[in-house]
Amino acid sequence: MKSKPGVFQRSLFGGESVPGQGTLFDGLTPVTDPGARRLPEQQETTGCKPDLGQELSRDLEAKAPAGDRFAGIDDLALLRQLVLKCRQCSLRQGARGVVFGEGNPEAEIMFVGEGPGKTEDEMGRPFVGRAGQLLDLMLKSHGFSREETFIANIVKCRPPGNRLPSPDEVQACLPNLMAQIRIIRPKIIVALGALASQTLINPGLRVTRDRGKWFEKDGISYLVTFHPAAVLRDERNKRRLIWEDFLSLKQKHAELCR
Ligand code: SF4
Repeated sequence: MKSKPGVFQRSLFGGESVPGQGTLFDGLTPVTDPGARRLPEQQETTGCKPDLGQELSRDLEAKAPAGDRFAGIDDLALLRQLVLKCRQCSLRQGARGVVFGEGNPEAEIMFVGEGPGKTEDEMGRPFVGRAGQLLDLMLKSHGFSREETFIANIVKCRPPGNRLPSPDEVQACLPNLMAQIRIIRPKIIVALGALASQTLINPGLRVTRDRGKWFEKDGISYLVTFHPAAVLRDERNKRRLIWEDFLSLKQKHAELCR
């Protein structure tokens, strides 16, 4: 059962408020604001998919890392079965299992984070801890549902102690994510945090400098924003910024999927 918004917000942000600014969702009236609901023309989730077609698949396959072990697979359920058995790097040894990701196999919007945390590892699902609760609330507040998107991570096994995945671990896991992107063919990918932004878009990106910016690559529009966990750690400086980024996401989605 869902909490009332006020209770949820206080719980999520530890009851702290910022003088003169309140808590993250004060004044946002996210879920009950009729203006925040999806417009009728946005409710058709497959409306903007066809123009991607085979061209994007070919582009992504061409840019996939050499030796992409999933290059010929075009079924997400089959890919999931294979990835769940993956032992391509040592992260698997310290994790309970592989967190494949979840959501709509035909999602127009895909979110990519860093890697599973403790709760995600325990539950086998991405973004289900406090950061995931914030992501869910941000989605709902902007007229999206979690179920219509696809949520994944750069690495799919929990790094010990939630450390940053090493470059080797990222490279080992990247074919899994590239195959997901190739099969789902999202119109938009939201890179949550530095690792996702630098891995998917450009190694030189800095989230504090580049958040809110859009990048076009391989027929996909990429948005850089904070990882929700970073917002929870620094609500004072990041809360309004991630809200602005989700407004930008809503606007871009309306443009692309009209
Ligand atoms: S982190 Fe990725 S590459 Fe490493 S074992 Fe898990 S699924 Fe395989």
